[in-house]
Amino acid sequence: MLQSSPRVVILGAGFGGLETTKALGRAQVEITLIDRENYHCFQPLLYQVATAALSPADIAWPIRHILRRQKNATVFMTEVTGIDVRARVVHTKAGPFSFDFLVIATGARNSYFGHDRWAEIAPGLKRIEDATRIRRSILSSFEKAELARDDAERKRLLTFVIIGGGPTGVEMAGAIAEVARQTLARDFRRIDPRTARIVLIEAGPRLLPTFSDQHSSYARDTLVAMGVDVMTSSPVLECDERGVDLASGRIDAGSVIWAAGVMASPAAQWISTEHDRGGRVVVCPDLSLQGFNNIFVIGDTASVKDASGRPVPGLASAAKQMGKYVGKLIAARVVGQSLPPFRYRHEGSLATIGRRAAVVELGALQLRGFIGWMFWSAVHIYFLIGIRNRFVVAITWLWSYVTFKRGARLITEVPPIAPAE
Ligand SMILES: Cc1cc2nc3c(=O)[nH]c(=O)nc-3n(C[C@H](O)[C@H](O)[C@H](O)COP(=O)(O)OP(=O)(O)OC[C@H]3O[C@@H](n4cnc5c(N)ncnc54)[C@H](O)[C@@H]3O)c2cc1C
Repeated sequence: MLQSSPRVVILGAGFGGLETTKALGRAQVEITLIDRENYHCFQPLLYQVATAALSPADIAWPIRHILRRQKNATVFMTEVTGIDVRARVVHTKAGPFSFDFLVIATGARNSYFGHDRWAEIAPGLKRIEDATRIRRSILSSFEKAELARDDAERKRLLTFVIIGGGPTGVEMAGAIAEVARQTLARDFRRIDPRTARIVLIEAGPRLLPTFSDQHSSYARDTLVAMGVDVMTSSPVLECDERGVDLASGRIDAGSVIWAAGVMASPAAQWISTEHDRGGRVVVCPDLSLQGFNNIFVIGDTASVKDASGRPVPGLASAAKQMGKYVGKLIAARVVGQSLPPFRYRHEGSLATIGRRAAVVELGALQLRGFIGWMFWSAVHIYFLIGIRNRFVVAITWLWSYVTFKRGARLITEVPPIAPAE
């Protein structure tokens, strides 16, 4: 009797899940890859969709297309709702899937630190829908301001608050400043978009806390030179439809954007296991689940330590390294071999500040300013999937660099704008 190949079920086609699938390309296994979306999203460029520089299709690719040549992989679009680790079954909205090996790579979601109500008011940036919602909110604020009949209301609508001074907050603040001061500068008749106020609020003492002090100060100085109000050591106390409250007072705002934190997908609840404060599943040195050597958790959903005991950061490169490792480990196990424990290699940190500056920390290579921005652009184009996307993004950036234009300025899926009172 022919023995069937081991069934590997991979949850999530993000950076980690895709890498696992590819690493199993030559293995004698039957892969089922499940994602709630039909595309893989390049999250590092989501802020460019949110600020109308790129279109969603420039940073996302159909999963089926990416894996069209990998015959041992079958893709299903459905949402995971639970996992029975003992019965070896994944539950989804489309029914159960049995597995011999399971890889959980469902990433992270926005976290409002107990203020879940703020999600409606201050969208975070995690999915394509979030990016188009933020784009809608930013562009609609300018449209409503043009209609406003009252100075205070106009001023409120032209105030943009970004909560969280990590790379996403810094990137959003710089990009919104450019939208207001350059892209839209001459497009309105009753308002002057250049008068918009962009406020970046950070609870901690400095921006970009995972970067060096020097680069953190550089980011602050660059944003201030672009006309952004940077407020550090300023935790947000309350957030409502018309603005935010800080200990130092109230800021009325037309758009509030959340860039202050994420937590892991609910995998720890699905498998009822130990997790850290960010909801990440605590895994063994080979990324398997304690007591289950056929179940692995990787990427933003996993709590892993590096060789010196520091937590592995929630970065695309970390998720890819984990994905590749687990793919190779399963391929080895299938033929009766094993691999040494996972070792994380930090490949560096990058953040861009507007269209002319970035900070880059890659071991001994420390860059900032325009040269840093050139390096950041090259790296992001290199990591995009597909020749078409690389070409489109490179040309779009070059065009907007020369002209200050942003082509994706569409307000979609929104009811007609009511005049501001
Ligand atoms: C705005 C932003 C900017 C970033 N910038 C950078 C950067 O510059 N550099 C960097 O290295 N990292 C960056 N990151 C972090 C990086 O994107 C993540 O670390 C990386 O995506 C983690 O990979 P992952 O495979 O764990 O999860 P993801 O890539 O998030 O993939 C998770 C997948 O699981 C799917 N999924 C989730 N839940 C379910 C479910 N219930 N059922 C089915 N499918 C599900 C999702 O649709 C998704 O496709 C950024 C993240 C964000 C949000």
